Amino acid sequence: MCGIIGYIGKKPATPFLISGLKRLEYRGYDSAGICVLENGALEIIKEEGPIKMLEAELANKILNSTIGIAHTRWATHGRPNKINAHPHFDCQKKIAVVHNGIIENFQALKVLLESEGHKIISETDTEIIAHLIEKFYVDNLEKAVTETIKCLEGTFGLAVMCATEHKIIVARRGSPLILGIGENETFVASDASAIIEHTQQVIYLKDNEIAILSEDGYSLKNINGELLTGETQEIKWTIDEIEKGGFKHFMLKEIFEQPKTIANTLRGRVNNGSIKLSVNLDPKKVDKIIITACGTSWHSALIGKYLIEKIVGLPVEVDYASEFRYRNPIIGPNNLLIVISQSGETADTLAALKEATNCETLGIVNIVGSTISREVKSGIYLHAGPEIGVASTKAFTSQVTSLILLALYFEEQISGEVDRELINELESIPQKIQSILDNAKEIKAISQNFIGSHNSLYLGRGINFPVALEGALKLKEVSYIHAEGYPAAEMKHGPIALIDENMFVVFVVNHGPIFEKVISNIQEVRARGGRIITITDMDNEVIKKLSDYVIMVPSVSEELSPLVNIIPLQLLAYYVADLNGVNVDKPRNLAKSVTVE
Ligand code: GLU
Repeated sequence: MCGIIGYIGKKPATPFLISGLKRLEYRGYDSAGICVLENGALEIIKEEGPIKMLEAELANKILNSTIGIAHTRWATHGRPNKINAHPHFDCQKKIAVVHNGIIENFQALKVLLESEGHKIISETDTEIIAHLIEKFYVDNLEKAVTETIKCLEGTFGLAVMCATEHKIIVARRGSPLILGIGENETFVASDASAIIEHTQQVIYLKDNEIAILSEDGYSLKNINGELLTGETQEIKWTIDEIEKGGFKHFMLKEIFEQPKTIANTLRGRVNNGSIKLSVNLDPKKVDKIIITACGTSWHSALIGKYLIEKIVGLPVEVDYASEFRYRNPIIGPNNLLIVISQSGETADTLAALKEATNCETLGIVNIVGSTISREVKSGIYLHAGPEIGVASTKAFTSQVTSLILLALYFEEQISGEVDRELINELESIPQKIQSILDNAKEIKAISQNFIGSHNSLYLGRGINFPVALEGALKLKEVSYIHAEGYPAAEMKHGPIALIDENMFVVFVVNHGPIFEKVISNIQEVRARGGRIITITDMDNEVIKKLSDYVIMVPSVSEELSPLVNIIPLQLLAYYVADLNGVNVDKPRNLAKSVTVE
């Protein structure tokens, strides 16, 4: 979850490290630090709090070193304070380590190292790595790091420096790391956003690979010390895509990008009313689909279940990846496992994918070259561009769009026919979303009424039940107001007890067979004094009478309704959070890509 950046080249390293950390701050932001090699000694500067605290500390220093590593932390072991911030030293201050991940056997290693006289000063699992390297070090950092990682259990992305060697040693298992190949300079980073302004040539490190970065370039080895040839790839993003472009926050920018990002997901995949996906599997052989994911992606998965069962008629199971991986799932040879992850690095989703040894697998991910994208047999890239806002918005709508495409593709491959009207309508979704965004001011005005609220309920039915879940998740993630998503009809079995005049209830209701049923649920909330916001495509007098606020959305087929209904809910969450004074792009305790268990 943290961010790692390292630089070795001919220029001063510190400005690269700081600008890289700022780009990575969305991955973790409780403390940050850098290590550079100045006059033969390692110098570590670290601070609690956001990167700007570290930057202020560095403003008084002159650092000319052309080699350095840096880290922005998302604490797993030990409080977010200065001592626990990375980089971490060994006893002699000769070795410095930054780490992303969790060392699961750190307690046992700590006991061993302390019994051998090592002095461990922080509460982190990371510090033991520095001491282990110290234990193994004779005269070669690469060898010491290789020996060390053989002793580690758990996950790590590591960058290591030594006072007596002008090198950065990098290694990974489970946590993402990429090398950036520049001219006379090499970078290492957790993701491409940290280095894209310097180079677009990258190598994605694989598990148990070790990279040796020196002034002369880089070399890549496996854990047995054998040389490897890394595959260089070109990142297609531009710098504009990772900047805010005049918006106050990335989250708002990304909400407004959705007409474009959905169009990008669709591009090239609809051709003459037919769906083109390059998936290497025969839909006719699939007898069941299992979709597994976490967080927002899990909500997309629930929508996917609804879509595939309705459009294709195949049974679909959905599970949280963190549950799936530990419950001995029954996977048949004709099942298809779909994994959904924006980053393509979500630790639990990756582990769930590894459960599928005997069946077809398909990934729906945004980041090209990410671990999941490499490990699945087939895949659909979202092409939504970098998502920096911690609360996912555009990735969600592109995931849902991909699942609609997949359902239509299966329909066409299995039956030879496809719902062309739905395809045409899908192509008109970007314009429809634009019309909602054009009315964002109206939603901003409604959001004022949430100020001072502590509780809310989001209710929907059918395909819009997961939309209610996602709307509630957005609100709690960024505004810290408690929000619960529920199937509207289930409200009577518990949550109705919570309703009083302080409770906001957000209904998501579209035209269709259960419209009247949801109206009855709205009546039930009104009768108990709840305050009601209704998102609907129906110009309906009863709704207007019962609701305190009505947000109208364009009318679309039920299958596509999540794509339009989620937009006002994203905007509502954003505006409420902003009015509450939350730094929306850095909500407390959260991090963007969850690369630890
Ligand atoms: N487990 C390490 C720590 O708590 C690294 C966490 C991270 O990935 O930021 O310091």
